[in-house]
Amino acid sequence: MLEIIYRIYEVADEETAAANLKKDFEFGLYSSISKAQNTELVMDCLVCESREHFKEIIKMNYGDNISFRYSRKLKAGDLYCVIIGEHCYNTEKYFNKVTFTCDCCNAKVETYFGKPIAFSEYEVKQELFNISEYLNKRFCSHHCKSEYLQKERRNLSLEDGNEFYVDKDMFINKDIAGYIYKITKRTTGEFYVGQTVNAPIFRWGQHLKSERFPISDIKDYIFETIEIVSKSDNILEREKYWIQKCYKEKPHKSLNIMCTANIDTNAENQLNLFETDKKD
Ligand SMILES: [Zn+2]
Repeated sequence: MLEIIYRIYEVADEETAAANLKKDFEFGLYSSISKAQNTELVMDCLVCESREHFKEIIKMNYGDNISFRYSRKLKAGDLYCVIIGEHCYNTEKYFNKVTFTCDCCNAKVETYFGKPIAFSEYEVKQELFNISEYLNKRFCSHHCKSEYLQKERRNLSLEDGNEFYVDKDMFINKDIAGYIYKITKRTTGEFYVGQTVNAPIFRWGQHLKSERFPISDIKDYIFETIEIVSKSDNILEREKYWIQKCYKEKPHKSLNIMCTANIDTNAENQLNLFETDKKD
């Protein structure tokens, strides 16, 4: 048994072809334009014994003259049938009527095409601060999409005092393994060196919820990023390097060493012994 998904087209005359083309263009379907000019009459799924059996059934319904592929010889008004697939695994893709409201002009849109006009992941990343909600926006036309984009970009600009939420995913960079940062207390000169795979501001936020760096003393802290670690480097090695370097410069001020070894009677030994603070 075969399950054949097929479409029946009617070859369009010039006027209809132009109208069909215009419609598809508005939906952003630029592919296979020569076929898109013809009028789709039917899309369905048929269970049959073989391809030959399928053709018999189609001919019974649409007449012996129906072709099973498009060719330039066909004239306006002729019918042809195109087999899309032999199993109905993806029927949803072909049959679901998609109804949605344009997020720009609020027009109600009905289409059989599975893919309404929307922002791609690339566009959201490049133009919309990687805010994932934008992936769910749907538009009736490319015109509405670009108008909406311009409007949102104005809204997202921080220049007028606008605020918007950021999350870790908006800062993902595949070339970067993470960041080495340093938090220094102005009053005591004590410092803490750490690593994070996310934009440092998120790690700093976590420190501000800790006893060591309570937010009530935030005016006392200097937050610095001291290295952007590329994917080719080992972030834990880089963290170790910086902890040791900063420790050697000011052995009594390192909060990394103090929290693991308590006293610094023999600095070199402790540097070999210490473990870095808990990782992200
Ligand atoms: Zn619209």
